Amino acid sequence: MTVRLFDTLSGEVRPLEPLEPGHVRAYSCGPTVYGPAHIGNFRSFLFADLLVRYLRYRGYRVTWVMNITDVDDKIIRGAAAAGITIAELAARYTEQFLADARALRMTMPDVLPRATAHIDEIVALIQTLLERGHAYRTEDGSIFFRIASWPAYGRLSRLDPTQLRVGERVEADDYGKDDVRDFALWKGPKPGEPVWETAIGPGRPGWHIECSAMSMRHLGPSFDIHTGGVDLIFPHHEDEIAQSEAATGQTFVRTWLHCAHLQMGGEKMAKRTGNIARVAEILERGVSPRALRYALISAHYRTSLAFSEDSLAAAASAVQRLDALLGALDSYRQEGPGDPSLEALLTGTRAAFEEALDDDLNISPALAALFELVRELNRRIDARSLSTADAAHAARVIRDLDRVLGVTAGEAPGQLPDDLVALLEARAAARAARDWAESDRLRAVLASRGIVVEDTRDGQRWRRVGEGERWMNHG
Ligand SMILES: [Zn+2]
Repeated sequence: MTVRLFDTLSGEVRPLEPLEPGHVRAYSCGPTVYGPAHIGNFRSFLFADLLVRYLRYRGYRVTWVMNITDVDDKIIRGAAAAGITIAELAARYTEQFLADARALRMTMPDVLPRATAHIDEIVALIQTLLERGHAYRTEDGSIFFRIASWPAYGRLSRLDPTQLRVGERVEADDYGKDDVRDFALWKGPKPGEPVWETAIGPGRPGWHIECSAMSMRHLGPSFDIHTGGVDLIFPHHEDEIAQSEAATGQTFVRTWLHCAHLQMGGEKMAKRTGNIARVAEILERGVSPRALRYALISAHYRTSLAFSEDSLAAAASAVQRLDALLGALDSYRQEGPGDPSLEALLTGTRAAFEEALDDDLNISPALAALFELVRELNRRIDARSLSTADAAHAARVIRDLDRVLGVTAGEAPGQLPDDLVALLEARAAARAARDWAESDRLRAVLASRGIVVEDTRDGQRWRRVGEGERWMNHG
C-alpha cells in the first residue's frame, strides 16, 4: 500500500506521489519566537514530526524545513518592553523552542531557516510580484499583494474572495491599501522598528511572504507537503499560495496538511485568551516528556484533541506499559525451542500498524495494534512460552515501530561507563561466592551512582533511576 494523505486544498485523501520519486520535500510553519511555545503549538509541530518519522520509516528520503519567524509585530513589541533588541529576544525564545523540541523528542528539521537571514530572497520575490503586476506600493513605503489580480484566491479556505476581510478591523497602517482584502508583503519604515535597506526600499517583511521565500529557497518553487495548524489556513496559507504561484507560475504545494486545535477546559488553546499550558511548565511539574509527547500525538491530527490531567495520566500509563514490557523482554531468559506463533503475531502487528498510518496517519488503530501486541507478549512472558531469542526479537520489532512514535525509553539496552560495569560484575561475583554483605555494599554503591539493582530468577538486572521500569540484565 501507499501512504495516503488528506489534502486540504482538494478536500480529498490522495496517494503521496513525491515530485522526485522516493524523496519527499516538506515544509512546516514553525514558531514565532516572541515567547515560549504552548503545547497547542507543539501538537502541530509533533504532528509534522510524526509524519516525517513515518515517511522515513516507510523508506522515503525526507527533506524537512521548519521556519523560525524572528521578526514580526509581537517580537518588536516584546523586545521594546524588555529593553533588548529583537535579535536578543528571538535568540532567547529560539533556544527555548529548541529545548522544548528536544525534550519532546521532535526530530530536528533538516533546515531551520530564520526570516531575518532570508531578506534577500524575500526582496527578490516581492520584486517579481511588483514586475508582474501582482503588488503595489503605498505612500508609506509598504508593498501590498493585489488580491484582485489573483482569481484563485480563496480556494484553500473555500472563502468567497469578494467577501474576504470585509468587516475585518482595519489597521491604522493599512489605510493606504487599494482594497481592504489586500495584504502586506513589505512594511514601510516606522520609528522604533527594525529596518532593512533593500532594492525595494527600506522596511521589513510581512509574515506571509517569509514562508513563501524560505520554503521555495530550500525546497524549490514546487514541493510535496506543507503543514501547519488549521488556524493558518486563512489568511496565512491562502496568502502563501497566492504570492508564490503569482510569482512562479507553478503549483506551489502538492499536498496541504492541517492539524486541528488542542482544546483545554473545553476551549481552544491560544495565547490571546490566556488558556495555555507551556511545555516547560508541564515538565517542571514532574510530568515525563515521553508521556506529554504521547498525549500530543495519540489522537488523529485532524480531530480536535482535548488535553487534560486525565489524558496526561492515560498517556503516562501507556508509556509505562511499553517500558515495562521492553524491560521484561530485555531481561527475559528461557532456554527452549521458542514460540512457533510469534513471527505471525509480530508480522500481523506490523501490518496493522502500517495499514493504519498509511491511511492519513490514522494513529488510533496503529496504537491499538501495538497495545494488543503488548498484552499478547505479556501473556507469553508470564507463560514462559518465549525463548530468549524470541524475547530479543520481539523487543527489536517494538523498538523499530517506535522509530515512528518516539515514546520508548531509548535505544537498545543501555550502555554504562566501564566503572559501573565493573561494579555490576563485582556484585555478580560476590553473589556467586554467596558473599551477601559485599553484594549489598555494591548495591548501595551502585544506588549512589543512580543505578538500581535487583535480583531475579534470570539473574541480576539493573536500571537507571528516573528511566522507568526499563531493566537490563547483567550477570
Ligand atoms: Zn508559515
